[in-house]
Amino acid sequence: LPAGSPADQLPRYVRVNTLKTTVGDAVDYLKREGFSYLGQAVRLDNLTLKNKEFVLDMHLPEVLAFPPNTDFHDHFLYKAGHIILQDKASCLPAHLLHPPAGSQVIDACAAPGNKTSHLAAIMKNRGRLFAFDLDGKRLSTMSTLLLRAGVSCHQLANRDFLTVDPDDPQYKDVEYILLDPSCSGSGMVCLRDGSPADQEEEKARLAALASFQLRCLNHSLRFPRLKRLVYSTCSIHSQENEEVVAACLQQNPNFRLVPLLAQWPERGLEPLSQCLRASTTRTLTHGFFVALLEKVSDGRGIKK
Ligand code: SAM
Repeated sequence: LPAGSPADQLPRYVRVNTLKTTVGDAVDYLKREGFSYLGQAVRLDNLTLKNKEFVLDMHLPEVLAFPPNTDFHDHFLYKAGHIILQDKASCLPAHLLHPPAGSQVIDACAAPGNKTSHLAAIMKNRGRLFAFDLDGKRLSTMSTLLLRAGVSCHQLANRDFLTVDPDDPQYKDVEYILLDPSCSGSGMVCLRDGSPADQEEEKARLAALASFQLRCLNHSLRFPRLKRLVYSTCSIHSQENEEVVAACLQQNPNFRLVPLLAQWPERGLEPLSQCLRASTTRTLTHGFFVALLEKVSDGRGIKK
């Protein structure tokens, strides 16, 4: 990353992998190594740390925050799969979906699998986690990551999610879907430093992404037993976020938005304030968007 870029200022976030360890054990290990633990953050500015300080996050129970650029790539806890290097905002989707242990879940666009391993941790490795991705290379990276993280409840498939048949009997008990489709990545601060692309080209690219995202969302809602779905992007463009969700809700009146984390400081753009946004300034994370959709009726008796 270029020195002095906004990414340099963000805390280094780490998710404790509860399939391999506990938050308490990870904290103790890091303390023995010379990091100083300041307890759980209560305010945003508690996440601004220096030297070897670290805190437990105030919104996400398994997330630790360290000073910017703390490097864990060669660290034992990382190599052993006890910690996952994941931005705080990208820990929101699995945390908010929160599928119970034993449930059947789809991660529709899953590679490289950080959210898949988070889902598996929440499910305590019990139940089934169907994970799809179009990109074979990213899927093989994902296999390695999941192995290291001790995930065992998954079934990976190199598939275009849009061709996965919602009426296939193997998905008949799927109640939860995490949809984190390809997006412009405009929320990733390290990607924002380049020179602006041609305006017309950029507009066409966003329109193509938004139409793909809406198709994925509509497709997801066709799984017959679906109860809850999380939609997320690392984009800051409303075209890929609120506009996609609003169009989907209009086309699927049997789903509604669930209001998320009242204490989270940044909301979806009006009128979609049930959704969350994240940004470098308001949440000290990369730019991000999350919506949680819930089925209103079981489709048999839509109220007149
Ligand atoms: N959820 C992942 C994580 O947390 O590690 C990141 C997913 S990334 C934002 C989007 C992924 O969607 C890419 O890996 C891309 O290959 C995949 N993808 C794009 N089109 C797809 C499709 N039609 N079906 C399945 N996966 C697709």
